[in-house]
Amino acid sequence: MKHWFIFLSVLSVLGWGNETFNGKSALIVLPLPAGKISVGDTNLSVVAHPRDRTKGIVIVPVDYYASEGDYNITWNAPGKNLPIDLNVRNAFYPSETLSVDPAKVTPPPEAMERIEQEKAEAEALYATFTPIRYWDEPFIRPMDSNITSVYGAKRTYNGTLKSYHGGVDFRARTPQPILAANNGVVVLAKERYYAGDTVIIDHGEGIYSCYFHLSRYNVKAGQYVRKGEVIGLTGATGRITGPHLHFGMMVHSRQTDPLYLIERINGLFEKESDATVASR
Ligand SMILES: [Zn+2]
Repeated sequence: MKHWFIFLSVLSVLGWGNETFNGKSALIVLPLPAGKISVGDTNLSVVAHPRDRTKGIVIVPVDYYASEGDYNITWNAPGKNLPIDLNVRNAFYPSETLSVDPAKVTPPPEAMERIEQEKAEAEALYATFTPIRYWDEPFIRPMDSNITSVYGAKRTYNGTLKSYHGGVDFRARTPQPILAANNGVVVLAKERYYAGDTVIIDHGEGIYSCYFHLSRYNVKAGQYVRKGEVIGLTGATGRITGPHLHFGMMVHSRQTDPLYLIERINGLFEKESDATVASR
């Protein structure tokens, strides 16, 4: 009987289809909190559903430059090897042109070593999978303010450098308190070349939140912080056009739309949400 239930649940997961967009994450609900999801040659751990620990979830971040189409991923758990469809569609991302300090577009040679070190340091942090979930409640936005630039905007800096916006910018003309998006452990709190004064929080299980361009921070690496705790004040440090908070999230080493991810995760806390989550 139990096996039939599991079988039917798997069919319903597959049948509803899982959809997401380039640059965003799919949140897939599985009937068991076991095994791994293989995406190409990457294996992502299935972790417990926050509201129903008999179920599993896996967050699959899709690259910003991924093409539209159906991706085959596989759920591997003891005695199981099941394909799951993931349909990736093209998101609409607006274009922006920005004027910043030329040294932040074409850095002076003496800054290159520092930039490379900071990049390597951040990549090593994001690649660290902490097998602990520090949070057990929905995530929050780090501040209540207007969004001045959305995640994913196609950007041209000073007419030359082309890039995309890896987070969301919140308006903050004067220093405003920044709140931790959820419980976690601060893994980085320092000044960086592009990001200025920076705080990065590890929420466990491959999820990190990032806060850039601060005027000050009042936490240090290794410190446990609670959701809603003030970790610093907004500012205008690093590569900026004006004072604001840049808020980003990383999942399994990939930049992902932070507000979309928060919406997906928080949806897990709503009753009867599983069908909705699986269908998004
Ligand atoms: Zn930004």
